[in-house]
Amino acid sequence: MSVWSALVGQESAAAQFRRAAADAHAEAEDPAATSAMTHAWLIVGPPGSGRSVAAVAFASALVCPDLGCGHCRACADVASGMHPDVTVVRPSGVIMGVEQTRGLVGRIGVMPTRGDWNVIVIEDADRLNEHADNALLKSLEEPPPHGVWVLCAPSLDDVLPTIRSRCRVVRLRTPPIDEVAEHLQQVDAVDPAMASYAARVAQGHIGRARALATDPEVRVRHQRVLGFPHRLGSVAGCLAAASEIIGDARDQVGAVAEPLEAAEVAAVLRAHGEGGTGAGSARSRASSALKELEKDQRNRRRRLLRDELDRVLLDLLGLYRDVLAVMCGAEVQLVNAQARAEIERLVAQGDPATALAAVSAVSHARESLAADGSEELVFATLALKLQQASSGTARAGLPRR
Ligand SMILES: [Zn+2]
Repeated sequence: MSVWSALVGQESAAAQFRRAAADAHAEAEDPAATSAMTHAWLIVGPPGSGRSVAAVAFASALVCPDLGCGHCRACADVASGMHPDVTVVRPSGVIMGVEQTRGLVGRIGVMPTRGDWNVIVIEDADRLNEHADNALLKSLEEPPPHGVWVLCAPSLDDVLPTIRSRCRVVRLRTPPIDEVAEHLQQVDAVDPAMASYAARVAQGHIGRARALATDPEVRVRHQRVLGFPHRLGSVAGCLAAASEIIGDARDQVGAVAEPLEAAEVAAVLRAHGEGGTGAGSARSRASSALKELEKDQRNRRRRLLRDELDRVLLDLLGLYRDVLAVMCGAEVQLVNAQARAEIERLVAQGDPATALAAVSAVSHARESLAADGSEELVFATLALKLQQASSGTARAGLPRR
């Protein structure tokens, strides 16, 4: 399988990258040839569309003699993160500081050791915003002859105009549900029924679909989110349900962040001579570096929490979309076909107007969260609005279906 088979539903983006890689190889062979190769790229696409997969596939195609065959040594080394000419900066690492940015600028300037190109992939280019100094901007504008920057971000708005104006943009789309299901079957050996359930519920987010298909805990949490509207009996119930859902998300974030944080602290202490024989303790020598790291780690936790809560809200949107579909008798595939009982209960409690009010309350909650609203406030407001919408119908005695 070539490196492109990991990209789901992105034929047009893959074709652009393949063309560019072919041009890049031609340019390397004959520097005098006019080439359409660009040295600074920006891949944008919704979460779960496969931005980093696309970036790494492109990097493989640049360093593989066969444009990303998927089975040569170069492709294998890129896949395992061992290729000396491909650097991937991942969001799970320490948040980028200006020193690291400058390190990358220096790194892209060196001659590649094995092939013709030196590629740096930055998975979360929005993290560059704070530290996008002139050295980086200059390198994006005039990358060294053998250097290729590949930046990734959810949307153009997430990236500084000074950065995006220097890059060639490739857009990814939300992958179609059928293709996500097929991908899970082929690549992760998930059985067809589970693959189709996971792809539907994840609504085109490949990583989320994979987690749903392969981790029972993730399925249990999704089911709990679908129960959220049923736990909103009283005002107290609303507040309790809201804080429960945030507590759940925080636990999730903790499980992901804690091991990373411990490893990062250990790395800083090692760099400051822990275990060595120098005078004074490594912890006191490292105190300012540790303080900086702590701040970055707090920021990362906040980002992870936002992402997790946005997933919760997307699950709720999927649920109310199903409720509306059933109310209107629409002949569409339900996102949560496995949760027919939860859907029917909401159908029985409301009417299309209350379901629409719920959809708009959830959408509003997503906007507030994205605009940096307090998580507690956003979810408490949402719970109260959802409760009000359904009890409003009950009081008015509106016809129900
Ligand atoms: Zn290859």
